[in-house]
Formats: sequence, C-alpha cells, structure tokens
Amino acid sequence: MSDKHVLLGMGQEELKTLLKSLGQPAFRAGQVLAWLNKGVPFEEMTNLPKSLRESLRETCVDLPMSIHQTFPSRKDDTVKFLFSCLDGNIIEGVLMHYHYGYSLCISTQVGCKMGCAFCASTLSGCVRSLTAAEMLSQVLLANRFLGEKGHVGHIVLMGSGEPLDNYDNVVAFLRMVNAEDGLNISLRNISLSTCGLVPQMERLSCEGLPVTLSISLHAPNDQIRRQIMPIANTYAIDELMDAVRAYVRKTGRRVVFEYALIDQLNSRPEHARELARLVSGLQCHVNLIPLNHVDEHSLRPASPESVQLFLKTLEEKHVSATIRREMGSDIGGACGQLRRSVLEGKA
Ligand code: SF4
Repeated sequence: MSDKHVLLGMGQEELKTLLKSLGQPAFRAGQVLAWLNKGVPFEEMTNLPKSLRESLRETCVDLPMSIHQTFPSRKDDTVKFLFSCLDGNIIEGVLMHYHYGYSLCISTQVGCKMGCAFCASTLSGCVRSLTAAEMLSQVLLANRFLGEKGHVGHIVLMGSGEPLDNYDNVVAFLRMVNAEDGLNISLRNISLSTCGLVPQMERLSCEGLPVTLSISLHAPNDQIRRQIMPIANTYAIDELMDAVRAYVRKTGRRVVFEYALIDQLNSRPEHARELARLVSGLQCHVNLIPLNHVDEHSLRPASPESVQLFLKTLEEKHVSATIRREMGSDIGGACGQLRRSVLEGKA
C-alpha cells in the first residue's frame, strides 16, 4: 500500500491540517474537496496555485480506488469493471448504455453475508463494507473511463453487497453524489436494491432521500422465499410488504420488485397469481429476471416459455411488469461472478 495521503474521504478538518503542512491557508480545503467530489485530477484544479497542484501530485492520491481491469462486452456497449481498493480487495461494477444515458451498477461491500442461493457475491461471505468515498470513486472512475463519450447519469446500488447492511456509508454516499457542488446526480436517478432489511428500510424512508427502492423479492410467499433467501427467516413477507408500503407513502416513489425466475421453484402461473395478489394496490413495477446460472449453485433458470407465461399472467392481473434485458451476458453476467473468477485465477 502506498504511503501517500488519500484525499477523497478525508474530512474537511483533516484536509485543512494536511494543507497547512504544505503551507496553504484553510480555505483551500473547500476548493480541493469540491474538485475531488467531481473527480477532477490535481493538474486540472485550476483555482489552485501550480506549486500546490504539484505538491499534491507528489504527496497524495485523489481516490481510494483504481480501475484494475475492464471487460467490454462484444454483444453490446456494456463494460464490466474490476476496481482495486487500496487494501488489495477487488470489487465489481457494470457500466451500461441506455437510450437515456449511462448507468453504473456499483458495489457497496466486498462480498456479501446475506446468503441468497442464486448469487455469486455471497459465496465467500462479506470481507468488509465499502466507505462512502470508495462508492463515489466507482462513479468517478467510470466517468474518467468514458472521457468525452459522456458521463454516468444513473446509478444502481445492486453490485456485490447488501446496501442497507452498510447503512451509514451508503447514506453518506447518496448525499455526496447528489451534492450540488459535486456530481449533482438526481436521487430520482438512483436505485437502491435490498433483500429486505425491514428496520433499515423504515429508517431510509425518513432520510429525505427519495431514491427508487428495489426489493429482491424472488418468491410470492414465505415458504418459497425461505428456501432461497435466508433473510426471509428474519422478516416475513407481510412485515416486508408493510415496510414497502410505508416507503411508498413517505417518499411518494414507486418501488420495484426484482423476481428471478427459477425452474421448478417460483415460476409457475399460480406463483404469478400469488405475486399479483401480494403487490395489488401498490405503486410498483415487477422486474422479471431470467436467472443467471452460477456454477456453484444447483438452481436452473426457468424456460423462456415459462418466463413469457409468467409475464402474461401478471399482465392479465394488471401488474406492471417487464422482463429485464440481459446486458453484457458474455462477461460474467451474474453479480459477483467476474470477481470470483478473477480471485480463482480464471479471468
Ligand atoms: S443478492 Fe444481494 S443481498 Fe443477496 S447475497 Fe447477493 S449481493 Fe447479497
């Protein structure tokens, strides 16, 4: 690990002390922080004296993370990133290009402890939570990668990690990325995915941060959900749905339910009807996900015919639903798969 100071993530006071040691007045801290939050490299911090920019370059690094490797898809514009943290940990991010611009899926933890049976991110547990600065760095690095081509306008917190298990850092990140003097990304363009940590969902609804909440539901009842999501043993579906209704009431935002269709488990028409009853009357959308196969798991994706029938059954019940478009399926589609193959020396 380098012995240089890492600036993004430093508090205002710490930065003032550092700048004082370089012979600079306190007001420079605010100027440096504003540039850092936008991802501007030292040499382009134009309101700083040239000598200061040079000393910053010699003694500091701006971000606590760097791009380790990129994997562009051959099928579409998707790019998968492996980012390396200063402590050597590796995490994944995915940049997708839609008609409305660039969207980045970021990780919030190194690994995950939630144990969902269809997910590669959880296979080695949770190594540690990421800091707010590490989350922001993923966005800033993706912007640097894009250069003249554009910038990230939408963010999904759906990479490895359960965001609400890293609550304080995630909330701090949301405030940083939304700050007017930073990237100023609208909270309406940010989706946060959770497997359903009910107390934290309730807390989030009171933060004044109206992000889109995306709930990994994947089952229409407790009995099926408990087979694939250990969190369902802690919070029953009824409690989860109460928290979802409270979130919609307090934020006025529509919620999204993620539902991975698994062969022989949750993908029959009666499951679709049960799901329709569960979400009836809610301002919501159901995202049907053709399951990504993970070698270590025995779960199989539902057939394309079952996926279509499931969608049709939901539509007949007037539930807003779509099948998620598969992007970058040639580059380790499932969350956590690419990182895993790198750790195992296969990528
Ligand atoms: S799906 Fe999300 S919450 Fe579940 S194990 Fe994977 S990363 Fe964790």
